[in-house]
Amino acid sequence: MASTAVANPVGSIDRSAVERIVRQVALEYLGRGKDGKTPELVVQASSRHMHVSREDMDVLFGPGTELTYDRDLYQPGNFASKETVTIVGPRNRLISNLRILGPMRKQSQVELAFTDAIMLGFKDIPVRLSGDLKGTPGTVIIGPKGVVELKEGLIRAAIHVHMSPADAELYGVVQSDRMKLRIGGPAGLTFNNVYVRIAPTSRLNVHMDTDEANACGLHLTKEIELFK
Ligand SMILES: [Zn+2]
Repeated sequence: MASTAVANPVGSIDRSAVERIVRQVALEYLGRGKDGKTPELVVQASSRHMHVSREDMDVLFGPGTELTYDRDLYQPGNFASKETVTIVGPRNRLISNLRILGPMRKQSQVELAFTDAIMLGFKDIPVRLSGDLKGTPGTVIIGPKGVVELKEGLIRAAIHVHMSPADAELYGVVQSDRMKLRIGGPAGLTFNNVYVRIAPTSRLNVHMDTDEANACGLHLTKEIELFK
C-alpha cells in the first residue's frame, strides 16, 4: 500500500512546483546578456488600435501615403503613428480617434477590448492572436480620404508574451505554448492562457488589453510573475 502512495497526484504537483521554483531561481541567477541582469518582464495594456495594409492605407489616407511616426513602442521596430481613423459598428455607433500602429501589415486588423466591441454594437468578437483573422467580423473604417469596408479583421487580441529565443530557453517554453501570469495586489488574478510568441528581436513583454488590465488592477501592483 505504502509504495502506491509514491505515485499519487500530490507527488506530481510537488514536482511541477519544484520545477517552477528552480526556473525562478535560474531566472534570478543566470541572467542573460553581458550586463548579467535578469530579463526584465514588462507588462503592458494595449489600448484599442488598428494595423493597416498598404491597400487600405491608400484608400483611407490617399495613394502612396505613409504612416507618420509618433513614438516607439516597446517592441523594436513597432511604433505609434499620428494617423487615426473612425470605425463604425453594426448599429452605426462609432469609435473615433482609433490609433494606427506601424509598420504596415499584410492585412488590416482592428484590436478592441470587449467593452469597446460592446460599445460599438457587437455582441461578441473572437479572441485571436494577431494576424489570425479568418472568420472574424468586419467593420467600416473611415479615414480622411476614404472609407474601407473590412470584410474581416476585428479581434480581441489574446493575451500574449513576446520573448526572444534566449528568454524562451530560460522559461523552458516553445512557440505557441501557453504560460500563466500572476498579478498580485488588491485586485490581483492569474491569467492561465498567455500565448508565447518568440521572435529573435523581441523583448520580454506581456501584452494584455485594457479590460484585462483593469480587471487585475495592473496599475496597482509591481507583484508580477510569469511561469509555465
Ligand atoms: Zn503584442
